[in-house]
Amino acid sequence: AVAATLLVSSCGGTGAGGAATNVQSQDPADTRIGVSLTSQDEERWITDGRAIQKGLEDLGYQVDLQYANGDIPTQQQQVDQMITRGADLLILAPLDGTALAPQLQAAVNAEIPIISYDRLIRNSPDVDLYVTFDNYKVGAEQGKALLTGLGILNKDGSEGKAKGPFNVELFGGSLDDNNATFVYDGGMSVLQKYIDNGTIVIKSGQTKLSQIATKDWSQQEAQSRMDNLITSSYSDGTTLDAVLTPNDSVARGAITALGNSGYGPKHDKATQPMPITTGQDAEIASVKLINDDVQYATVFKNTKLLAAQAVKSTQALLNGEEPELNDTTSYDNGAGAVPSYLMPIDVVFKDNIKKLLVDSDYYTTKQIKAGQ
Ligand code: BGC
Repeated sequence: AVAATLLVSSCGGTGAGGAATNVQSQDPADTRIGVSLTSQDEERWITDGRAIQKGLEDLGYQVDLQYANGDIPTQQQQVDQMITRGADLLILAPLDGTALAPQLQAAVNAEIPIISYDRLIRNSPDVDLYVTFDNYKVGAEQGKALLTGLGILNKDGSEGKAKGPFNVELFGGSLDDNNATFVYDGGMSVLQKYIDNGTIVIKSGQTKLSQIATKDWSQQEAQSRMDNLITSSYSDGTTLDAVLTPNDSVARGAITALGNSGYGPKHDKATQPMPITTGQDAEIASVKLINDDVQYATVFKNTKLLAAQAVKSTQALLNGEEPELNDTTSYDNGAGAVPSYLMPIDVVFKDNIKKLLVDSDYYTTKQIKAGQ
């Protein structure tokens, strides 16, 4: 960072946040923003990175965008480097919510504000702001979508005709990601009642997050667990009716395993009907699968809007202004509630793909047909 032109004010003091003091307004061209994201393995993070970079560059900021390739030491090293190179603000999506403590301390010592992006940085009082989606609601919507797909609920939330019992299996996200717990809790808040009254049967008996988690939300891991579940609980010919899958990569992993063992889209008479599945991110490959009646639903989180919110907040924090907040209680990171801004979400089914994803110019019909 080059010398400041004007001392504006302290931007600390926002709840658990408040790492930065004496933030100085300066020429954006002399202002460097470090952006650390998890990996480029999933399409959603590539979209996030592009949108954050463009938004910041449009305002004239210098951007140092790094992906950690899913490796915690790499992320720590990249953030250390951002600080040494003179970052004025950090936007961080941690791979492991608890692993960036030394980096955060260094940032605080250098009075660099910190925005936790999508994923919560845990056990630190030094997070100025958390911008994310309502992760609990993501899970609750996945639970509802699963019930809708089975006919237990209608799309308007009223009781449907189907009474079950239905065989269902559950998948969770990565245990080191705080979002996985919120998504799981949201899903169970909807499904528990139906498990308790026998409408839903979890034949494997695996219902705890620790039993159903998917390391790194990996497609491959999900495929192997689904293969194992099919072998252990369904090889006697029991039909599997639905699988709660917490994001699109996990959904596609489970779907691949199911496809390999004889399940297919309902119009394909040669196969058993594919179980109802859920998802998150509206990745193009999954939107194609929904359009083709293979995956049932996904939760659309418009990452371009999340990126825009992070960019707006960056500008506010650097100008010593209060960033926009709409939730100051839900996200306790272990060191207090982190001031947050939660973005809205939508649920995508085959019949609203056009309205939600095409009419909003998120994807073209051609992309959806091609799945890329
Ligand atoms: C994000 C999801 C994403 C998952 C895997 C979560 O923290 O909120 O959108 O699918 O990580 O990358």
